[in-house]
Amino acid sequence: MSEQGVKPERLRINEIFHSLQGEADCVGFPTVFVRLTGCPLRCQYCDTEYAFHAGDWLDLEAILEKVRSFGASYVCVTGGEPLAQPNCLKLLARLCDAGYQVSLETSGALDVAAVDARIDVKTPASNEASRNRIENFQHLTARDQLKFVICSREDYDWSKAFLQEHHLGERCRILFSPSYNQLSPTLLAEWILADRLPVRFQMQLHKILWGDVPGK
Ligand code: SF4
Repeated sequence: MSEQGVKPERLRINEIFHSLQGEADCVGFPTVFVRLTGCPLRCQYCDTEYAFHAGDWLDLEAILEKVRSFGASYVCVTGGEPLAQPNCLKLLARLCDAGYQVSLETSGALDVAAVDARIDVKTPASNEASRNRIENFQHLTARDQLKFVICSREDYDWSKAFLQEHHLGERCRILFSPSYNQLSPTLLAEWILADRLPVRFQMQLHKILWGDVPGK
């Protein structure tokens, strides 16, 4: 508690780093990533397990100052699952107020009603498909992006059916990405073309440039 008895607005931060945005619409732009600690899910392909527990408590001012130090226009709030910390919404608002182009990467397992987001739909091979929050889809608009990480042909067929069942392509932009080192990108590209599927194929730029290295 501060001297005035007011609890500071803090978040547990795993890392803040400067890199190129590797996915979605802002791919390639220099971006500051704010990775929040913690996630209630355990996807089998998770590449940020180091963010489940480790991190330091920082107040919003300290986070803003660190972000500012990199001099970038784009900020991506990620995790873990950033929405697991309620103060994430305050951080998003402060970043937007400061004039940054802000994106949020979330698993889709928590309520996104209050934010514009890039949401991961969990496929069966993630082992967390039961955590997809179907209610979230009603909040999607053209500003949002849904990403499917595809691990296998079964995942691809499931994702295609899921898109059609929930009419997701009419609501927002859809990204299909091959799971790193699990599915051939070429194979996924060929399936999309063969099916005339109106989705955007994407590979994670940071994985191509740096491999599976934290902080990149
Ligand atoms: S939701 Fe994201 S951070 Fe959490 S386990 Fe799944 S891939 Fe990892």
